[in-house]
Amino acid sequence: MLEVFLGGYMFHPAALDYSGDTCQNNCAYCFANINKEFRTGNLQGAINAFYKSEPKTYRDMLLSMGYPILVSNRSDPFTVKNQRDSIALFTHLAERKGGVFIQTKTGPGMDECLDLMGDRRDVVVYITVTTIKDDIAKIVEPNAPPPSARLATAKRLHKAGYLVLIAVNPCSEAWMPRDDLETLCKALKKEGMNHVCIEMLDIKRKRLSLLGEKRVKRMGAAIGMLGDRNRLYVRECTEYLVYQGFDVAKKGMPFKTELFVHMKDRLGTTMPVMQDFVNHCFDKYGTSGAVLSYPEWESIMARDGIMLKTIKQNNIRDYLLRSGFASWKDNQEVHSHKEFLRIVWNDPRHRISVQNHSLFRVIGKDKKPTLDEDGNVQFYFSGQPYFGKKKEVIEV
Ligand code: SF4
Repeated sequence: MLEVFLGGYMFHPAALDYSGDTCQNNCAYCFANINKEFRTGNLQGAINAFYKSEPKTYRDMLLSMGYPILVSNRSDPFTVKNQRDSIALFTHLAERKGGVFIQTKTGPGMDECLDLMGDRRDVVVYITVTTIKDDIAKIVEPNAPPPSARLATAKRLHKAGYLVLIAVNPCSEAWMPRDDLETLCKALKKEGMNHVCIEMLDIKRKRLSLLGEKRVKRMGAAIGMLGDRNRLYVRECTEYLVYQGFDVAKKGMPFKTELFVHMKDRLGTTMPVMQDFVNHCFDKYGTSGAVLSYPEWESIMARDGIMLKTIKQNNIRDYLLRSGFASWKDNQEVHSHKEFLRIVWNDPRHRISVQNHSLFRVIGKDKKPTLDEDGNVQFYFSGQPYFGKKKEVIEV
């Protein structure tokens, strides 16, 4: 189904996602499949959307403005079942103005799809490598190509001029211990590949019960390493990648990165990401310390495109429902990204919120935020992350 990629707001450059039929790779940790056992792609609906003459909905606006499409967030496009539809989809993507972000573990149909794109290199290829050991992958991701094959494909596509991101996502020490990560990094450096994404394996206790006995068994030692231990491990791995000179993406990381700049160079019009603001703060203030006010955030995040428009429907509000129910109730109407940005700036209850980022601390007095004349909070940025459990309001 072709949908607005609400789940990627503030951290992903794509604005739309096309996910095909239920993924057959059968990864033990796959919540797309656990949440919904049976999924259909509705290819025809997507194709019809490409050729609408008058954009009416929010999705149509994003499509007509050339925002990139992610293929796919909730299903791998290159499985035996999805390959035919993916090839059909790419015949239309090749005709469309706007980049393509491929997210895959590689597989059948991938080469055909890239062939259809011809010489176009406004295609970013994100290849997941959770382990470098084929025998571990056989248990955890049994129907996906082995990591050795994925890395061979990644190398080939990098040589062919695509921007290839290697994604250690989800990362667990059980599957990608430090020695293996270092081996992977050496292999990437040798090939001149410099872009790595990393995210932790994050399964909250409440969700663990949804996994089922067989999946838990296949996850192996990774289950016992969930939570703080994994958080710390992924933090150390992120630091290692950054200090090794890779262009790294990790949600909420306290470093500057060129990775999103390189993606924008390829994809053209992209959605803004929190990292744009982090980069801006490092560029402008370094580690000298600065007070940040809302207009500065808006000037960086709402620079162009859809970010400056008003949307007739109330779709943006759906993001609030997904990432913080309380906030959804408090904000009944959200018809522009500027309204949305104001919520993300002021409200700490979202998955992606400025207040929850380790680099930004709320300024206030007597434990209460000091609001500016427009009622917005202000932040202090020193270039130094704060990893404490509970962030207190600070006096500056
Ligand atoms: S490849 Fe992705 S969508 Fe498919 S089962 Fe694995 S995690 Fe799920």
